[in-house]
Amino acid sequence: QARAASAAWCGPGRTRDGKPVKVLANVADAASAAAAAEAPVEGVGLFRTELCFLDRAEEPSVAEQAEVYAAVLAPFVGRTVVVRTLDAGSDKPVAFATLDGEENPALGVRGLRLAAGNPGLLDRQLDAVALAAERTGTDTWVMAPMVATVAEAADFAGRVRARGLRAGVMVEVPSAALLAHRVLEQVDFLSIGTNDLTQYAMAADRMASDLAHLTDPWQPAVLQLIAITAEAGRRAGKPVGVCGEAAADPLLAQVLVGMGATSLSMAAAAVRPVGAALGGTHLDACEEAAEAALAASDPAGARAAARAVLAELG
Ligand code: PEP
Ligand code: MG
Repeated sequence: QARAASAAWCGPGRTRDGKPVKVLANVADAASAAAAAEAPVEGVGLFRTELCFLDRAEEPSVAEQAEVYAAVLAPFVGRTVVVRTLDAGSDKPVAFATLDGEENPALGVRGLRLAAGNPGLLDRQLDAVALAAERTGTDTWVMAPMVATVAEAADFAGRVRARGLRAGVMVEVPSAALLAHRVLEQVDFLSIGTNDLTQYAMAADRMASDLAHLTDPWQPAVLQLIAITAEAGRRAGKPVGVCGEAAADPLLAQVLVGMGATSLSMAAAAVRPVGAALGGTHLDACEEAAEAALAASDPAGARAAARAVLAELG
């Protein structure tokens, strides 16, 4: 029955009682964007720009970057695309951006931190995104990865708004989650990256398969950080989405919506199961499931508690 509902789901994202939740796709390049545009999504919640340049030794010119970005934006005219500036470093080294020889690259100069030593790199990328947005007419929002402080968010937002685009930051460092209300004073939206937020909250390498019990977004400590962030968004009246793998888990998606997430962005393959799960559940059941999961003391308990609430209230 769940499979039939999933196959039939055709958007837009809503709970059973009509609360809108944007269901969005994560994309990496023009090909994945073209494929995602065929799915019943309201746009792209995460365009990982660094994946376009993993094989490049030299920084592409502004004109070339604009062409690459426009190819991703074009299929989404009339919808929204959230472009993430280069998340270079650690698990995604980009030759022209990242530093070699860091002892601990996951905690090193990665993501937005690269802009401190090389602001031109960020400014040129923003120029290219603005050109692509203008050329395609697609509603384009821009966000920065690996933001840890309010000052970083403020600096980034200033550069993005100077180009007439909406500015946001990812919440994937616990400090940004704990200060989400202050970060939100600086930006138009937040997007929670649960992959890195889990890695940094649990001090457990996301690539280490031996640590999978720790790198589990159902860890109650991670759920708490997500809840703090979503609640800050609710109070500020600004969108807070989730774009990590957690958003692709239909059960967790319902919990995230119960916490106040306003959008969920995921691999295109997960769009229909997640959309169908939301469409089968009332918002108050999601809220109770979120409370139950937050009260658990381990991931298994959190899953079981959420499942029990949703089975009872639906
Ligand atoms: C995340 O960290 O959850 C995220 C969405 O970004 P990435 O997986 O690209 O680091
Ligand atoms: Mg990340």
